Amino acid sequence: MELPDPEPTAHKQVVGVDVGMRYFAVASSTSNKTLFKSGKAPLRKAERYANARKSLQQKGTRSAVRRLVALSGRERRFIAETNHAIAAEILSRFPNAFIGVEELTGVRDRTERRSRKGSSEKTRKANRRRSRWSYAELLSFLAYKAPLRGSMVVKVDAHYTSQTCPRCGHCSRDNRPQKGLMFVCESCGYQLHADLVGSRNVGLRALVVRQDWAATGCLSCTPDVSDAETKAERLKRYSELRWSPDTSPRL
Ligand SMILES: [Zn+2]
Repeated sequence: MELPDPEPTAHKQVVGVDVGMRYFAVASSTSNKTLFKSGKAPLRKAERYANARKSLQQKGTRSAVRRLVALSGRERRFIAETNHAIAAEILSRFPNAFIGVEELTGVRDRTERRSRKGSSEKTRKANRRRSRWSYAELLSFLAYKAPLRGSMVVKVDAHYTSQTCPRCGHCSRDNRPQKGLMFVCESCGYQLHADLVGSRNVGLRALVVRQDWAATGCLSCTPDVSDAETKAERLKRYSELRWSPDTSPRL
């Protein structure tokens, strides 16, 4: 299908999408619209598939292997269908949007680091469950469907998106008391659902990408991670970002 090249002025809103386990996707726009897609039911179903797969693997008979192949196909299709549905819902809720998503390598690093330092059974279980879902697939569906809805997807740094206060910029691990559902800023007391904080920070960073695009006429769809200096510069700019409903840009 032939589609026109996107322009920085073509989008009516900037949206951030945060992916994770509790909610597969939390999307929020600069005009304060939000969408939460729970991962609870699909993860439970994926876990049932994984358990069935495990017991067939242990059996190891020829008929078990045959059933295993069929089951793996069903499992893959279930994950893909769910991801398609979530991507479609995000795009229909936020039409003509400039959408920021996290560069997923950062997220994976975080998980690995946590599992290396002799973590609890609970964390290991959470990591296993996390790896059972393909967030990369979800984001790639979102990216390829977006132009059909007049939208486009860019990747932004995921560093500290869950620890940075969108109101005052204070960044600390302790902004998440007991790693709970609530984000509570140590510095200014700002409180918000933790996953929504992540999504707002991703949205703010997408706004930076869009401003650069409008100013320079050239668009980078993925952050340049090769150069430490560029990265430090980018993180410094992010640390100056502030969320406020009244300073949302008029696009
Ligand atoms: Zn704060």
